[in-house]
Formats: sequence, structure tokens, C-alpha cells
Amino acid sequence: MNDVVSALIAEDADITAIREGVRAVCAQFPGDYWQETDRERAYPTEFVNALTEAGYLAALIPEEYGGSGLGMRPTAAIMEEIQKSGCNGGGCHAQMYIMGTILRHGNDEQKKKYLPGIASGELRLQAFGVTEPTSGTDTLSLSTTAADKGDHYVVNGQKVWTSRAEHSDLMLLLARTTPKDQVKKKVDGLSVFLVDMREAVGNGLTIRPIRTMINHATTEVFFDDLKIPADNLIGEVDKGFRYILDGMNAERVLIAAECVGDARWFIKKATDYANERVVFGNPIGKNQGIQHPIAKVYAATEAADLMVQKATTLFDQGKSIGPEANMAKMLAADASWEAANVCLQTHGGFGFSEEYDVERKFRETRLYQIAPISTNLILNYIAEHVLGLPRSY
Ligand SMILES: Cc1cc2nc3c(=O)[nH]c(=O)nc-3n(C[C@H](O)[C@H](O)[C@H](O)COP(=O)(O)OP(=O)(O)OC[C@H]3O[C@@H](n4cnc5c(N)ncnc54)[C@H](O)[C@@H]3O)c2cc1C
Repeated sequence: MNDVVSALIAEDADITAIREGVRAVCAQFPGDYWQETDRERAYPTEFVNALTEAGYLAALIPEEYGGSGLGMRPTAAIMEEIQKSGCNGGGCHAQMYIMGTILRHGNDEQKKKYLPGIASGELRLQAFGVTEPTSGTDTLSLSTTAADKGDHYVVNGQKVWTSRAEHSDLMLLLARTTPKDQVKKKVDGLSVFLVDMREAVGNGLTIRPIRTMINHATTEVFFDDLKIPADNLIGEVDKGFRYILDGMNAERVLIAAECVGDARWFIKKATDYANERVVFGNPIGKNQGIQHPIAKVYAATEAADLMVQKATTLFDQGKSIGPEANMAKMLAADASWEAANVCLQTHGGFGFSEEYDVERKFRETRLYQIAPISTNLILNYIAEHVLGLPRSY
């Protein structure tokens, strides 16, 4: 076997132990827990607390700030195991990676002030205010503004799909600080702020939940002359778009690992059912019309996982992973969505029943064709930045 491939496949004992630990936590949250939270659109507080107490949400925070100081590869294994166990990490996954912007671009004071609390779970930083209703994917056209008033900024505008805002103390906010027509480079003019929502709600910040097809605690938020201390600016003013892009690769590869976990959950569920369910005197899995789609998506999942391993390995070596993170996200999201469809088909009518968890996971994994970046935008990225084709938009 070629060395690169064996390095990607080999997992050290630490990662195997992490996987076992995550599985033990997840075993406390079986399907009926998720069915109930989904039905009530309730926040999975007990699950998030259990992951926090076990230290998994602080995986990427360096030890000097109270985290585990793990690399991206073991962290991806945590995300994968959560989904593979039938749980849903969507309620808290961002607590793991949003803090990367403070870690990479914050000053020493900000790191000391926020990272230990985020590591212990005392402070939640799991809300990310980027998307707006009018600009959508075109982030550089966002219109929320932060006006410089000396010792503070005043924010006005609106964000949409700000997930977990009601269950977060802090929000990482991207806002325009210099008008689009006054910047030298089009990527300039946006800045990143840390908003303390404990103080902001009712004082210029309003959060409204959006009811969606999945239980994702997502919201829209409104800024109406919200004051933010100047100290809460992260990095340099007007350079925020680059900082956000930086964090997006980490987010994409971790979401890709979640999709691999989802795909593996669906494949196991479909295989078990295909072996057990007897119709016309035979297990349905004896029919190639049932087994081939499962086999095919198994192969697609293994291939997607290799791209996740490549991206995380390169990240941990300090290399840039733009193409790999994007490809991993697309391949893994495609595999999980196909696996969801195959699993539902394998279950026949029972796939629609709440008690099998298939319909819930089916809805949940569909999100990753859209968020945090849609498949089309990944294809645009590969076409333009990897293949050198002309930009189409
Ligand atoms: C449940 C949920 C949670 C989310 N959580 C967050 C969050 O916490 N924080 C946050 O900031 N955002 C969040 N998002 C927003 C998410 O990242 C966006 O929905 C996503 O990036 C797409 O943006 P849009 O919905 O405005 O679609 P649009 O930009 O309006 O795009 C609509 C469709 O057109 C396609 N399209 C657009 N432009 C092009 C083009 N040039 N070429 C080809 N196709 C194109 C897109 O692929 C898409 O299919 C969340 C979304 C959902 C649904």
C-alpha cells in the first residue's frame, strides 16, 4: 500500500480511544431522546452538557487555555462519532470551531479573557452572524454596518439563520465598517466583532427563532443601534472577511466528518434492516435492487472519508486546505444524502415512522447540501480556484 494512503487510513490509539469515549457519551442519548427534542423543537441541553463535561467541545482549544489542544484529525473523529451514533451535533458543533477566529486573530487579552471560559463551557461561543436575508451567499454584499464611534461601534442591520443564538453567550459577527465603494480591494471593508449577547439582548439586539424542518435552534437577529465596545473588534478593522474565510475551511472539514458519520449511521441502519426484514420468504437484502444501492453508497462514503482524512492531516501539518476542505464537504454531504435516501427506501413505509429515526436523520442531513456552503458554490470554487476556469458570476 502506498505510504500516503496508509498514513491516511492508520489511526493512532489516541483517536481510537477518543472514538470510544464519544460513543460512551452518545449511548446515553438514544433515539427516543432525539425524537422528543425534535418533536418539541427543544434544545438538547443534556446532550450538550454531557459533551461539555467530557471535554469534547474544547478539543481544538490549546491546553494553555484549558482545552485539550487536539489537532483537526481527532476533532473530526469526535464529530463523526456523534453523528454515527445517531445523535445530532448541530446543537453545539460550532462551540468547537468558532473560537478559532479568536485563537488565530484575537489579541492576547482577548484570548485570556474568552478562551478559558469557552473551554470549560461556562461561556458559549456558538453563534455565527454572517448570512443576511438579502445578500445570501454573496457575503461581500452584506449590509449590516458597524460605525466607529471611538471607544465603541454602533451596529445596525439584520442577520438570518444565526443558529444557536438563544443558547450562546457570545456571537461572532461580521459587519461592514467601510462602504463597499470606498475600499481598494473588494475583500476589504468588513470587520469581525465579538458580541456579548448577555448584555446586548434588549439593548439593541433582538433574536427571533425560525421554525424549520429540522431542530437546529436557528434564528434571525436584528441590530438596532447596538453598542459594542471597541475592544471587541477581533484583529484589524476592515480585514474581517479574510479571518472568516480562514475559519470556514475548518468548519467545512468538520461538517464533512459529520456527514461521513451520518452516512455510516444510515448504511448500518439500512444493512441491519435489509438482513432482518423478510418479505416473499426472503430477507429483502437478498435482492440486488436493495443491496447494490447500499454497497454503492458505502464505497462513496469510504472515498469521502479519505478526503476528510487528507484535509485534516494537511491541516494538522499547517498546510492550506482550501481545495481539500471543499471537496471533502461536497463528497461527504453527497454521500450522506444518498445514504439517507437509500436507507429510507430500504425501510419502505417504516422509514417514514418517527420511531426508526430514519426520517429525522434524513431531514437533518439534507441541510449539508445548503449549509454552511451550498454544493454549487463548492463546484464554483473548484472550477475557478483549482481548475482555473473563468468565474461565472
Ligand atoms: C438551518 C440553517 C442553519 C444555518 N446556520 C447559519 C449560521 O449559524 N450562521 C450563518 O451565518 N449562516 C447560517 N446558515 C446560512 C447558510 O450558510 C446559507 O443558507 C447558505 O450559505 C446559502 O445562502 P442562502 O440561503 O442565502 O442562499 P442563496 O445565496 O440565496 O442561494 C440560493 C441557491 O442559489 C444557488 N446559487 C447562488 N449563487 C450561485 C452561483 N453564483 N452559482 C451557482 N449557484 C448559486 C445556491 O447554491 C443555492 O442553492 C444556515 C442555514 C440554514 C438553513
